[in-house]
Amino acid sequence: MLTIHNTLSGKKEEFKPLSDNNVNMYVCGITPYDEVHLGHARCYVVFDIIRRYLKYKGYTVKYVQNFTDIDDKIINRSNEMQIQSSELAQKYIDDYFVQMRKLNIVDADSYPRVTQKIPEIIEFIKKIIDNGYGYVVDGDVYFQVRKFKDYGKLSKRNIEDLKVGARVLPGEKKKDPLDFALWKKAKDGEPSWDSPWGKGRPGWHIECSAMSLKEFGLNTFDIHGGGQDLIFPHHENEIAQSEAALGKQFVKYWIHNGFVTINKEKMSKSLGNFFTLREIFEKYEPMVVRYMLLSQHYRQPLDFTQEKLQQSKNTYFGILNILEKTKNILPDGTADHINDTTIKNYIQNFENSMDDDFNTAESLAMIHGIVNMLNGFYNDFLENKKGAKDWIVLYRNKLLKLCDILGLSFEQELKIPENILKLSEEREQARKNKNWKLSDEIRQKMKELGFEVEDTKSGTRIIKL
Ligand SMILES: [Zn+2]
Repeated sequence: MLTIHNTLSGKKEEFKPLSDNNVNMYVCGITPYDEVHLGHARCYVVFDIIRRYLKYKGYTVKYVQNFTDIDDKIINRSNEMQIQSSELAQKYIDDYFVQMRKLNIVDADSYPRVTQKIPEIIEFIKKIIDNGYGYVVDGDVYFQVRKFKDYGKLSKRNIEDLKVGARVLPGEKKKDPLDFALWKKAKDGEPSWDSPWGKGRPGWHIECSAMSLKEFGLNTFDIHGGGQDLIFPHHENEIAQSEAALGKQFVKYWIHNGFVTINKEKMSKSLGNFFTLREIFEKYEPMVVRYMLLSQHYRQPLDFTQEKLQQSKNTYFGILNILEKTKNILPDGTADHINDTTIKNYIQNFENSMDDDFNTAESLAMIHGIVNMLNGFYNDFLENKKGAKDWIVLYRNKLLKLCDILGLSFEQELKIPENILKLSEEREQARKNKNWKLSDEIRQKMKELGFEVEDTKSGTRIIKL
């Protein structure tokens, strides 16, 4: 039974889709005004794994992710750079796809963009006004928060506490500091669109309500996700707008991933610890970064350190090595019984971990169990033990399948060249013959070719330097 922690109830709940085997899932996308960073990588890797695992469980998943391609940050940045806001947005949307595909994140089924959905957004705002939850002041449209009785149910805040911190900013004409903008009147020189309330552009929150519900046929949908920082006000406001317009529940399960910190500090440009994915990928393979992201449960904060990346690199290369060493081995049918309960237990435990609110940290432990077994069979193979080849093929195939659920791929660029593999094999033989001198010479030779060799309990591991 799959359980998911639902931010709305604050509890783990059994996952039951709203309609049969179909799962509709929406995740808030980026505002493309700068390069994507580690925080983005974490969020989109998390939801990629959720999607992959739901598919593995037999669900059909429709995954929608938006691009906020117009907002203050985009307008300011494009003014600085003296280019059109659409040009700026396109540049960083392109960067998004390049970096995310390196992380082996599968593309969403649909990527609605605000600037392409203005009529739908206007329709949605009209519905909110018609239902009595929105009001117009001099070209702006606001949502009347007090009118929506359930306001605060996601972030567990109450109206009275919120009132203390709420302010009306200069230029805002809302009746109550708690209210938020659905539509903003155009300012001079800003991109704007015609609407029943005059020229303007959508407020930040409305796009996700209008675009998600449009994609899912104006029905309550199964999963809405995003980073923890979006719970308030963004997702709280999405609920208010959507339920005011629909007159029914907006989303069944709310999933939020934890923050990323760098050496226990908040990631920020002013602290000089802000890493874009492009920068990180200059030093580390994207799959190593993906591995590191998986090593922590998605709801926990993830502290990024060089040591952790290096550890992830070593472990990742451990898996890669045994897959490389065994890739040309074919079964020869000499194993007496291949109905193995050990591998079944590993798979069962892997599923149990993933069923427990997508616990990838624990599921990786199962991957390592299989890797250790496979290393053992490989040693048996080197010693010409009967049945070893069959065991290798069985465990190797299962390992690849489970890695695929986690999106860990073993692409060409990461592969260990044949000559290096050959040297490693010669070195292993030399060690078996206790010829330490030869083994050291081979290690040195491999180092000169750019590969470090490391002997661990579960076998020898080659790491690209
Ligand atoms: Zn959103």
